[in-house]
Formats: sequence, structure tokens, C-alpha cells
Amino acid sequence: MVKKNGSNDIFKGRTLIIATMHRKEKVIAPILESELEVHCKTVSDLNTDKFGTFTGEVDRKLTAMDTVKAKALAALEGTTETLAVASEGSFGAHPSSFLMSANEEMLILIDTKNNLEIRGWHLTTETNFNHQEIKNISDLKEFEKRIGFPNHGIILKTKEIGGEEKILKNFQSPEILRSKVLELLKGNKTIIAETDMRAMNNPTRMRAIGHAVNDLVKNIKSLCPDCKAPGFSVSEVVRGLRCSLCNLPTKSVKAYIYKCKNCEYACERAKENVTQEDPMYCDFCNP
Ligand SMILES: [Zn+2]
Ligand SMILES: [Zn+2]
Repeated sequence: MVKKNGSNDIFKGRTLIIATMHRKEKVIAPILESELEVHCKTVSDLNTDKFGTFTGEVDRKLTAMDTVKAKALAALEGTTETLAVASEGSFGAHPSSFLMSANEEMLILIDTKNNLEIRGWHLTTETNFNHQEIKNISDLKEFEKRIGFPNHGIILKTKEIGGEEKILKNFQSPEILRSKVLELLKGNKTIIAETDMRAMNNPTRMRAIGHAVNDLVKNIKSLCPDCKAPGFSVSEVVRGLRCSLCNLPTKSVKAYIYKCKNCEYACERAKENVTQEDPMYCDFCNP
């Protein structure tokens, strides 16, 4: 429990472990060190891949929310530290616009000493998440250009008829990648090229993680009005924003419920700068 009149000083000077094996500390550490005055480090024997990989070797079995928590706790295991941050990304169709690809980044800060769990989140359509079948070298060159290779990584998945799928990655240059593809094409294999979504091979994703870190910091700095514990953030949304034309409630968000996980204090805060919804989103005016 955080004592009354606690604040972000509870993190000051402490060691914070970043649970990553994909160099996410590059973007996470500078922000947290300057905002929370912690000392960030990584642990060398952590295998976050056991929770699922983007490349398909290991499927993610837990939800993103449970995975990120399991990663943070795994990083603390076997250490005497009590503070950890982990992140987890998801990629796919945008939740409200299925034609666009989206990247959702989730972060968690776990403080086992003070029994705190604070989250950060970022959703963006700025992602190069993509895949394509490669039938010849010009397909490959087009895909390289589209996703920004070699600045961003490419993964190849290849399969012979009746054979097992093979995953090839870590191509350092277009020459190495192209000669591998030529070799596979000669062997009559199906080739699927995919964007490498691992943070260290994807600067676009690294930027999205940076935005999620900023959201985490914002939530950490939000203190409970009652007990002053950090992490006073949105736990639920309240829908029913009224239509500006017919005044009936719509499905749009009108307010947020903030809840303290330390003392259970909760309050509702109206969504800023919005009092009415456009009739375009009203089921009555625009069914
Ligand atoms: Zn509280
Ligand atoms: Zn209406």
C-alpha cells in the first residue's frame, strides 16, 4: 500500500528492469530515467519469446494485457528488484476501420514493493505491418520499398509442397535477401515476405512504443485525489454522448471513470472539449 501523501517520489533512485530482448530499452529507458529518476537496466537471461513471437514460432496464448504483465513479472523473477516495465505490441486491422492496419502498444509498470500496476497504451495506423507472396525478384523489390527495407526488417516464410514451414530472418542487406529469395525460387518453394515487427528491426514500431511510454508516464504522474498513489487513470468509459441534432444518446464516449487501484477511490470525468456528438454517428439520425 502507498501511504497517504505518497507521490512519484516512491520511484526515485530505484532500479527499474525493462523486460525486453528486442532492445526496447533504447526508447523506454531515456524517458523513464528522466521522468521518474529511476535507473533502468535489462536482464540478460530473460526469454520474452516464450510468451509468443511475431514471426510465428511461438503463438501468444494469453491476451496482450496478461502477456505484458507476465513478461514484467518474469523479468523480476530471480532478482531482488521490485520495479519492472514490459511492453507488448499487437498488429492487425484497425478496430474501427478494417481497411487500415493498426499497431497497438501496451505497457505496464509493476511495483511489487508498493503493490502498484500502472498501464500505458498507444494505438496508431502508422505501421508498415504487411505481408506478400513473392513470385519473382520484382515482387520482392516492390515489397522492400513499401515497408522500408533495410531500415525495417523482412522475414521470409517458405514452404515446399507437403513440407514444413521455414522462417528465415535477420537479413542485413538487399543483396543477402535477394540471393536467398533467388535460391528459394529456383527450388520451387512458396515464399511469403513479412514485415519484421520486432522492435529492434522496426523503427516505426519503436516510435509507437515511445508514444505508449509517454502515456504510461502521464498515467504514473496522475495521482489519486484521495490517497495520492500514482496511476490514477481511466478504468472504464461511459458511452451515451448526446446527438447535436436529436439529443438522443449515441454510442460515443461522454465520460471516463477514473479509479485508484490503491484505495478504490473512483470518480467520473467528462470527456474534454466534447459536449455533443455529430449526427453522423447517431443511430437515430443516421441509421
Ligand atoms: Zn487512492
Ligand atoms: Zn441524432
